[in-house]
Amino acid sequence: MLDTAIDLLRGRRIAVLTGAGISTDSGIPDYRGEGAPKRTPMQFDTFLSSVDARRRYWAGSHLGWQRFASVHPNEGHRALAHMEEAGIITGIATQNVDDLHERAGSTTVTHVHGQLHTVSCLDCGTRFDRHRIADEIERLNPWIRLPEQVRLQPDGDVEIDPSQRFEVPPCPVCGGILKPDVVFFGEIVPPRVFAEARDIIAAGDAVLVAGSSLVVNSGTRLLEVARRADVPIVIVNRGETKWDARAAVRVEGGTSETLTAMAEALVAPF
Ligand SMILES: [Zn+2]
Repeated sequence: MLDTAIDLLRGRRIAVLTGAGISTDSGIPDYRGEGAPKRTPMQFDTFLSSVDARRRYWAGSHLGWQRFASVHPNEGHRALAHMEEAGIITGIATQNVDDLHERAGSTTVTHVHGQLHTVSCLDCGTRFDRHRIADEIERLNPWIRLPEQVRLQPDGDVEIDPSQRFEVPPCPVCGGILKPDVVFFGEIVPPRVFAEARDIIAAGDAVLVAGSSLVVNSGTRLLEVARRADVPIVIVNRGETKWDARAAVRVEGGTSETLTAMAEALVAPF
């Protein structure tokens, strides 16, 4: 199936949609993948209404963000960056909140579900660099240390014991509620962000899905754009996806080895 996929993609402008599966080889677990721990994600309503929920979320998110900073892009990220540099990729719409595509060298990347590197105030709308807020967290909570075994989640959260002592910094401008710029469950993707992702997909005359089981609504909405335009969809994933029946080609396999093989075939010399 890999050869069929390569034949189909050759000579086309490729739009890319990536999910958690592309970051698993960097050590970030896919919470929909096999063996993933069951957990309840933070709901936006809960975050808004409960001080304790915000404490728990921020404590976990802070430790998770520190872990994210220590992981590195893998072969799959690098293969896509290489294809973009060669001019055959229109851009990447990713469901991931990590910045591994950017660190691999990709430049046209839209984070459909937001990203962890900035924090916004829900009251005044000011946006802050995550490092500034992280420094404030460590000033308020000098005891906080990365535990030996923290279970890192793809949304940057971790499972830790709730700590009543954890203090969440307020917005430095207005004292309001701070939230990382990730889209929570129960929260809609901002229309501007979705429009950017849709433009990336619409610019391709083939769509390559890498490492997503396509169960999240945003992925389905983006692929509908391709389907309506009769643009062929190639899916690379370990395990079934919701769009297998509608894909032109479906490659069962890991993204690191598959995307590397594709880049080698489509961009010469690699
Ligand atoms: Zn504010």
